[in-house]
Amino acid sequence: MIVTTIWKTKPNVPSRKRGCIAGVVGTLRLGSVIQLILRLIFCMARNDHSGYPLKWFKDQNATRNAYECAICLEVLKDPVQVRDCGHQFCALCIDDILKTDPRCPTCRIEISDVMIFEDHAARRLIKQLVVNCCNAGCSWQGCLGSLLQSHQNNCNFSIHRGNNVDEKVEKLEQTLETLMMKISTLEKKYEEDSKELKLKYEQDSKELKLKHEQDIKEVKLKLEQSENRWQLLEEKQRELCEKEKKTADLRKERFF
Ligand SMILES: [Zn+2]
Ligand SMILES: [Zn+2]
Ligand SMILES: [Zn+2]
Repeated sequence: MIVTTIWKTKPNVPSRKRGCIAGVVGTLRLGSVIQLILRLIFCMARNDHSGYPLKWFKDQNATRNAYECAICLEVLKDPVQVRDCGHQFCALCIDDILKTDPRCPTCRIEISDVMIFEDHAARRLIKQLVVNCCNAGCSWQGCLGSLLQSHQNNCNFSIHRGNNVDEKVEKLEQTLETLMMKISTLEKKYEEDSKELKLKYEQDSKELKLKHEQDIKEVKLKLEQSENRWQLLEEKQRELCEKEKKTADLRKERFF
């Protein structure tokens, strides 16, 4: 790394940011342009913030003094400790150092894989530090552990969460579209059924009307017949009355 170039010439410079510029100059002095390009590419490709960003932390000064990684200049992430000197670094940061220049970036003693062990105590303490949510507009504050475990995934101001909302909206739109199609199909079916029912009703009505008219005709006919018979009966009764009267008159004449 560029940083390690500087450490070789100026072991007391802990700052990576200062080291980058000076390292470039030092490397140029060596004339190894290819090496410089490769290092620049590697520098750009690797995660420049292996640690937790210092800006997250509420008490930045105290956090920097106690838990700053001398390689990435951020707060120790997955902290490891060098066995012989006790210096702490992020696990990913020291991995890079072991691959390129296996010396402790702080005190320059020679180091190897077996001398590096996880610092569980430091990890626990760092997870308890108070941090702010760094998403714009969010005022959440809590310990780093809570931020990583839950708030990061649930923050309403997260861009990632925004993507989820877009996905949800897309899914809802798809569901809505499916529902609209179902409604359209049901409406068509309803219309067809209505037409069929209307036709059936009209047919039934016609049949009923015809039957009803026929019944009325029959009743009328019967009534007419009854009236005729009634008239006949009345006439016969009248005739009988007259006959009775005539007979009675004849008897009276004979008697007197
Ligand atoms: Zn680091
Ligand atoms: Zn050391
Ligand atoms: Zn938040």
